[in-house]
Parts: sequence; structure tokens; C-alpha cells
Amino acid sequence: MSVQYEAVIGLEVHAQLLTHTKIFCGCSTAFGASPNTNVCPTCLGLPGALPVLNAKAVEYAVRTALSLGCRIREHSVFARKNYFYPDLPKGYQISQYDEPFSEAGVLEITTTNRAGEVVTKRAGITRVHMEEDAGKNMHDKGDFSVVDLNRAGTPLVEIVGDPDLRSGEEAAEYLKTLREILVFLGVNDGNLEEGSFRCDANVSIRPVGTTKFGTRVELKNINSFKFVKDALAYEIRRQESVLESGGSLVQETRGWDDKAGKTFSLRSKEEAHDYRYFPDPDLPPLVLSAEYVARVRNDLPELPSEKRARFVEKYKLTPYASNVLTQHPKVAVFFEETGKAHGDYTKVANFVQSEVLRDVTTRGLEASFPVTPTQVADLLTLVDKGDISGKQAKELYAKMVGTERSPSDLMLELGMQQVTDVGAIEAVCVRLIEANPKQAEQLRQGKANIMGFFVGQVMKETKGSANPQIVNDCIKRLLKLG
Ligand code: ADP
Ligand code: MG
Ligand code: ZN
Repeated sequence: MSVQYEAVIGLEVHAQLLTHTKIFCGCSTAFGASPNTNVCPTCLGLPGALPVLNAKAVEYAVRTALSLGCRIREHSVFARKNYFYPDLPKGYQISQYDEPFSEAGVLEITTTNRAGEVVTKRAGITRVHMEEDAGKNMHDKGDFSVVDLNRAGTPLVEIVGDPDLRSGEEAAEYLKTLREILVFLGVNDGNLEEGSFRCDANVSIRPVGTTKFGTRVELKNINSFKFVKDALAYEIRRQESVLESGGSLVQETRGWDDKAGKTFSLRSKEEAHDYRYFPDPDLPPLVLSAEYVARVRNDLPELPSEKRARFVEKYKLTPYASNVLTQHPKVAVFFEETGKAHGDYTKVANFVQSEVLRDVTTRGLEASFPVTPTQVADLLTLVDKGDISGKQAKELYAKMVGTERSPSDLMLELGMQQVTDVGAIEAVCVRLIEANPKQAEQLRQGKANIMGFFVGQVMKETKGSANPQIVNDCIKRLLKLG
């Protein structure tokens, strides 16, 4: 019988912290500036320039670690990780090594198992530490490779996960959950494509039922959730087939070729760096007092899972609606402001989901909405008052999108107000009953579905502006139906 294998996966995530300036100097971190304009002696690695730690970067890093349930070390150390590469002008990266500022946290993820049941899993977080980003080498600028050091010194948190994940799906879910937490914390913009949120995945396999880890492969820079899933699935199959054919695995770093749908070897362990870590003599140990940590903890924004639970509890939303309306921090704010302005959170939730979200675009922490919460609240109030039908509300909404018009002005201008004048509706009903004696008789005889015919005719005559409930009542009254 052939051996059954299980995958063992641990992720390392690098996330840029959204500070205005770099981690050890005052240079701007703005994305998209001309190459090598946001640089100074410190981030260029010029001799004699000294690093000074950015307090905001520390605060964001501590926020991250606390939200992942990590223990914060009172005393931590910055270390030099030595290697040579053109995007690293100092010849070393300032990172944290054997004394990171935080460790031992947990990330709760929700997945669906093979039986289709929703299961919650707690994946361990080994550590969160701070480090600086490197610059960017570019190889598409003619005959030369060039380097842009604007990114050098951008603050990063590295979040190292325990090898607790067992499939590509779990890994993708872990990443999504982590990304969402960072975005809700306001510390990272979660942009995988632009590389402000990056992931390396470590994967090995072992026979089911055993506990010893197999030889691991590190998959580098997989920049979408789909790539994570696909690259891991491929890599797990590849490792299985190597072992099944009697071969053995080598510890190596591999890349993902999405076009070919394959991983490929980048370097083996023999070529791995010896980083010669040592404490950076230019930076004093980082001391995080209990009071400081308590203050950061106290100021933590609501996490996505907490917000979701609160929306279900407080506004009686379904878990599904609550999920949709917390997909982005700004969407959640829009929903709550509209709900507050209108009063009926269920109606607001339905309308935002079915109409507004279609036109919302998000980019990083920003989101742009086609209308304001007040416009939506006022629109729904028109429906409540019977001025327009639910169907008309959608039409009016479509006219309102991208304008700053008030829905009631627009309604009057477009002649959309529903006719609630019972006399006017009755006149139309009388006329239609006279014009359609056969149908009137059938309705009297109890063929209830004929009602739809009459309501439809009235709507046609009034171009949809009659209040359907009033039409219904009116026809019943005229035909003396109970
Ligand atoms: P390094 O510092 O060389 O990257 P670490 O021991 O810090 O190595 O591990 C880095 C990541 O690799 C962690 O996320 C960890 O969970 C994962 N990992 C370690 N061993 C294995 C293994 N045998 N299989 C899969 N993942 C592993
Ligand atoms: Mg590593
Ligand atoms: Zn600088």
C-alpha cells in the first residue's frame, strides 16, 4: 500500500508599515516618487550616518503583534543581517534576530473541510519582528540593471508563522485573514501586487500519522492568494512524486512560474547565506515598558472578527451580510453612518449590499463611494414614506450615483413621486374595471391571480408611479372583495 502524505506549511510574511517616513531616517516612504529622490546618507548607507528608530513604526509593529496575541518582550535587540546585494547599500539589513520584540501569538482562521463543514483553526505565530526593507533592482531599463533606493529603509514587520498549516487553501486563508487584520489596524495597505504585503511559503511533507518534519522547500515571493494556493498544491504534488519514485528531497528555495504552473529551483541549501548576525552597535536595545504596551493595546482599533460579531449582535445582520459589510474598513464605516442616519440597519444593509457596493472601489486603506451615507439614508426614507416604491428607489439611486443631488429633489425633477392620491388612483381603477369586464368578473369569482393583471394595468397607465398597495386596496374595494 502506498504511503499517504500530509503537507506541513509555515508562512513568513513581510508587511510594509504605513508610516510617512522610513524606519531609521526622516526620508519619505511615498510610493511612486522618481527613483533615488527619497534618500539620505542613512538609507544610502553612507559611512558615519547613524540610524534613529521611528517611534511610529514601533507603535504599528506593537499594534500588529498585540492583535496576533503575541507576548511583547520588554527588551529586544536590532541585529545586522549581513549579505551583499546591490539593493542593500550598507551590506547588511537591520533586522531582529534572537531577541525579537514579540513572539508566541496565534491567528484564527476559518476554512471549509472536505465534508463542507466550516471549521476554525488556530495557527501559531512564532514571532513578529521589525526590520528595514531593501531597495529595488530593475532589469528592464535598457542595457543596464539599475537600482532605486527609495524603498530602502521602509519599515517592515516580518510575521513568522508556525508550521501549522496543512494545505494551500489553509495557507491562502491564513494570508487573507492576516492581511485583513493589518488593513483594519491601519498599519499596512495589503497590496500584494505592489509588494507592500509579501509572502514566502515553507512547505514539506511527511507520512500521515508521523510527527517528524520532512525536508522543506521555501517558495519565494508569491504575490497573489491564488498563486499561494496553486504554488503550494503543485509543490506538495511534486514532493510526493519525488518520494514515491524513491528519490529524496533537497532543502532549497524555489520560485513559482504561473504561466507554466510549476515551481522551479532558485538555489539550494549549499548556496544559502550565512548572515553572520550580530547586534547592531549603532542602535540601543529597544525597551517597551508595560505602560507603553498597555497604551497601545488600549488604542487598538476594532479587529475585523470583532466588528463582524458586533454587526450580527447589535444590528441583527446575518453572518453573511456582516461579512460583506466588513470587507473593508471604509465599507463598514459607510454602512454604520448610513444606518445611523436612517435608523433601520436591516434596510440599509440590504440596500448597501445590493446597490452601493457595486460601485465602490477600494485601494489600500482608501475607498471611494459613488454616493454619501446621507443620500442613501434620505433615499430609503422616501421609500418609507411611500413616496417611491422599492423598485423606483433603485432607479433613483442609479440617477443619483456620482452626483451630490438630494434624492427628494431628483425624485421631483424626474416626476418619480408615487401617486398616493387615493382619488386619482381610484379613477384609473374604475376606468380599467369598466374596460375589462371579463377579468373583473373572474376576480369577483375568486381567481385571485387576476389581481396582478389589474395592478399591472394601473402601473402601465400611471407609468409605474402608483403605490401598489393603494391600487390593491382600491380594486378590492371597488369589486367588493373581502
Ligand atoms: P529560516 O530562518 O531559515 O527562514 P525558520 O526556522 O525561521 O527558518 O522557519 C521559517 C518558516 O518555515 C516558519 O514559518 C516555519 O513555520 C516554517 N518551517 C520550518 N520548518 C518547516 C518544515 N519542515 N516544513 C514546513 N515549514 C517549515
Ligand atoms: Mg526564511
Ligand atoms: Zn533616508
